[in-house]
Amino acid sequence: MDQAAFDKLKEAERLLLYATDDRHYCEEKDCTVESPKCPERHAQAALKALSDVLEPPHEGLHPGRLVSDPERIYAERWKKENERHAWLNSGYTLVEHLLCPEGQRHPDRVTFRDAQVAAAVIQWLGTACGRSLYFNVRTRNRSSQNATARLVAVRGAQHASAFQL
Ligand SMILES: [Zn+2]
Repeated sequence: MDQAAFDKLKEAERLLLYATDDRHYCEEKDCTVESPKCPERHAQAALKALSDVLEPPHEGLHPGRLVSDPERIYAERWKKENERHAWLNSGYTLVEHLLCPEGQRHPDRVTFRDAQVAAAVIQWLGTACGRSLYFNVRTRNRSSQNATARLVAVRGAQHASAFQL
């Protein structure tokens, strides 16, 4: 697919995203995106068909490791965080916001490779090494906060004694 065709599909997806409500309530119990009965669901089905082609899957490079609970939980949560909704974050996904250069007003679509790299890093946070990094940062952050609190207390005492002179 050439870039012009890809851009047209992205525009159609964007328009459908705003024309549909993914929280749509339907009286017909068997009206689903997979089996649409009403115009709203037909629009949602069209959006899903476009998204299946355009949206990166937000999956890392090591699906075999998802048997590990922490890695799977990180991976599933990341996928959920990157669902696109018209009513959330102006219709952009989390990874699109993260990869938006500073000063740029609207994020671009990310490449499939960008999404894969981000998902792999997030899944890695669930490994023993990733959790070790997290706990080290958390511990260091706590001791840094404690040091800041001590510094504020010392400076407060110095300030108070300066006024007593
Ligand atoms: Zn319906």
